[in-house]
Amino acid sequence: MDLDQHSIESIVRQVLTKLKEPAQESALSVKAGMAQVAMLESLKNFAIREYPIPELEDDDILVKVEGCGVCGTDVHEWKGDPFGYIPLVLGHEGTGEIIGLGRNIKKDSQGNPVKVGDKLVTSVISCGECPNCLLHPESPQLCENQGVYGLITDSPRNHLTGWFASHIVIKKGSTYFVVNELSLDQRMLLELAAVAVHAVQQGKSTGRLHFDSRVVVSGCGPVGLMVTAALRVAGVGEITVIDGSDQRLDFARQLGASHIINFKQTPTLDGRIQAVQSVTRGQGADFAFQCTGNPQAASDVYKFIRRGGGLCEMGFFVDNGNATINPHFDLCKKEIALVGSWTYGAHEYPLTIAFLKRAKELGLPLERMITHRFPLGKMNEAMETNLSMQGMKIAYVS
Ligand SMILES: [Zn+2]
Ligand SMILES: [Zn+2]
Repeated sequence: MDLDQHSIESIVRQVLTKLKEPAQESALSVKAGMAQVAMLESLKNFAIREYPIPELEDDDILVKVEGCGVCGTDVHEWKGDPFGYIPLVLGHEGTGEIIGLGRNIKKDSQGNPVKVGDKLVTSVISCGECPNCLLHPESPQLCENQGVYGLITDSPRNHLTGWFASHIVIKKGSTYFVVNELSLDQRMLLELAAVAVHAVQQGKSTGRLHFDSRVVVSGCGPVGLMVTAALRVAGVGEITVIDGSDQRLDFARQLGASHIINFKQTPTLDGRIQAVQSVTRGQGADFAFQCTGNPQAASDVYKFIRRGGGLCEMGFFVDNGNATINPHFDLCKKEIALVGSWTYGAHEYPLTIAFLKRAKELGLPLERMITHRFPLGKMNEAMETNLSMQGMKIAYVS
């Protein structure tokens, strides 16, 4: 038999498709018409629960979940319920394929057409009615009632409200984006990337962050790593990253860090100040991003910044206590422009999608940040793995 390249390809494709189908079915042993969720029923206790998939209303979107990143917020809620949301289905960094559409759904939040089969991510929901929404419509992240799927207390009306599940139902009022052009890993990193993109936007708003800035990134958790990549994509060439893990520092280099400081090898603050000075012509950093939740690090970061520099504080997504500074030396005398950063607005998702595409073009291996993947039945283990600080980004994949 004479086979040309084209027919070989088509046979291989057919065989692969046949191999793939039964495997996918067995991985997801959910009965037809039913959905499974990992319900956080009490502290450190996800239980798998099954619910019928509800009949879709006109503004609903039914999504078959493909995966969802595990966020520090999920782990905090699993461990201590600081938000008081239990019982709930966690998971807000999720993505999946649309398998059902209400009749009113025609376009996503960016105006792109939506159809069954599209890959989708959700973003934040702001109320539009609180004083901050009315006064600062351009900053929806300041909404007093900001919501996001995956951080909603369970209710008998709708159980499919988080991404740690086989299915999720997106209701009216949510923001959502079709992202067919991104890989599953890129889509699972999109929410985290939006946090970084927003922080860089906040940094730029001070007027102190430029292409030629020498920038310090304090902390190499997923947030610090993503900020490093965002700075690199934005064109910042000199990025010094500080962390205590060689694995994370090595990865920071791959994402664009030009200098690294391991605080375990440079244990004194003076030593670290000198290390920063040595890569900033003795001046100190033009700008810094504080990406740890550690009060000491939040105090120390001021010492790395030059007079006339800027700082974006973005590490404290939960209350980790007070941090002390010397207002004379740290703020006044240096005239540091200080800005905080809190989540992101849905309007920053298009920017974030552009950032992820550009990062790929530049060859930044962002997907390698996802070091561990767990199925729905092992989400307690996923949380333990996150807490143990092994690896970098943990994800649920269906
Ligand atoms: Zn998150
Ligand atoms: Zn509001």
